[in-house]
Amino acid sequence: MIDTLRLTAEDAAGLLERKEVSGEELTRAYMDAIDERDGELHAYLHVVGESGTGVPIAHKDLVTTKGIPTTAGSRILEGYIPVFDSTVAARCKEAGLPILGKTNMDEFAMGSSTENSAYGPSHNPWDPDRVPGGSSGGSAAAVAGGLAPWALGSDTGGSIKQPASLCGLVGLRPTYGTVSRYGIVAFASSLDQIGPITKTVRDCARLYEVIAGRDGCDSTTVDLPEPVQIPTAEDLQGIRIGIPKELNEAEGIEPGVSEQVQKAIALAEGLGAEVGETTLPRSVDYGLACYYLVAPAEASSNLARYDGVRYGHRAAGDGDLTALYERTRWEGFGAEPKRRILIGTYALSAGYYEAYYGQAQKVRTMIAQEHAAAFEQFDLLVSPTSPTVAFRIGEKAENPLAMYLSDLLTIPSNMAGLPGLSIPCGLSEDLPVGLQLIGPQFSENLLFRTGHALERALGFDFVPERLRHA
Ligand code: GLN
Repeated sequence: MIDTLRLTAEDAAGLLERKEVSGEELTRAYMDAIDERDGELHAYLHVVGESGTGVPIAHKDLVTTKGIPTTAGSRILEGYIPVFDSTVAARCKEAGLPILGKTNMDEFAMGSSTENSAYGPSHNPWDPDRVPGGSSGGSAAAVAGGLAPWALGSDTGGSIKQPASLCGLVGLRPTYGTVSRYGIVAFASSLDQIGPITKTVRDCARLYEVIAGRDGCDSTTVDLPEPVQIPTAEDLQGIRIGIPKELNEAEGIEPGVSEQVQKAIALAEGLGAEVGETTLPRSVDYGLACYYLVAPAEASSNLARYDGVRYGHRAAGDGDLTALYERTRWEGFGAEPKRRILIGTYALSAGYYEAYYGQAQKVRTMIAQEHAAAFEQFDLLVSPTSPTVAFRIGEKAENPLAMYLSDLLTIPSNMAGLPGLSIPCGLSEDLPVGLQLIGPQFSENLLFRTGHALERALGFDFVPERLRHA
């Protein structure tokens, strides 16, 4: 009897290596779990159920998969079946990881709750009345709910770190340029990164090892400066951890979240880390505004390709090409992509480009400089991942600005191209709280080492309480 709720990817690999279970048996266990719980969680948009020699995986539905539907959570890509594999899907395939299915997401990764999916929301395995976060909410719900041992997500402003946090999981947003975006449905190209959502830091490092590295099909990628190290450390001797005041005292951080984060910081000190206060004077104040110019601007350009001719949905027409474009886009895009296309097109229009996009790029440079200054004194920075625990489905759906604040703490380091790891650090109101560790570019090994030592000391149980005795 395989307990998919408890089994880590590493455990699963061990079972396969020792031939205690076959690939078919492993996949069958996940398919049974999907039959049992996906009706409630709606983690998957498409179940494939492949089996093979490696540990099965779920891909966020913006990871292009040859012969397997890829919708990015949008009606406009309904019925699209790619003829090629994205680089990350190809690398997982080469590593022998069969695909369990494609996971639900906010449409084009625009959102923080998966409520913007054209196919209906996913539900948080800790409390199905609540969101799993987003936009990679389906991947997080699948892993936390025992419907996949690990999964890929994408993170533009926080879409891996935040759902990992809300579902009691580990999530890595890698250094920009370490993971190929070839074949990833593009949202904001200067920010999008693919990364793992897992139960443990070691699983996270293992999956990062599979997907990272230079890809000839994506000229923004580079080779890693050093091989990925699967962490074993149990102490934090010699690691200097900075607490940026603004990231830890921002308005809207729930007291219960702060409390758990402070406990984790004290624990880090107990493990030998040197902890001190630091500052990111303007990154938190200006991060969100800067992001909501840069991301929609790039999105408006990326989403221009959905015209009803090349992919997915096509509106019925009478031979007028412009009308075909308009009707297809009107019918195919939901409210959030439309909102972003409007904002982005406006910001990029003649006469406004310098005032908006140009200015935002300057602020972005300033944010990167502030982080670089903090890293002169500290090896890593720490904060809550999300200001709040998982909120109720519907609570923020009508208020885009309230929803945007979910990423207040993840966006600044993303704007600077930096890697961030979220690990669960405790519960507040019986719901998981995430701790965000931010490092300089290419510091993934240090993030894994630190995250692993803390994870062991924290002893957080990633199986959702209400499913423990089921
Ligand atoms: N919530 C943010 C947005 O809606 C970030 C999403 C993401 O990282 N893909 O843009």
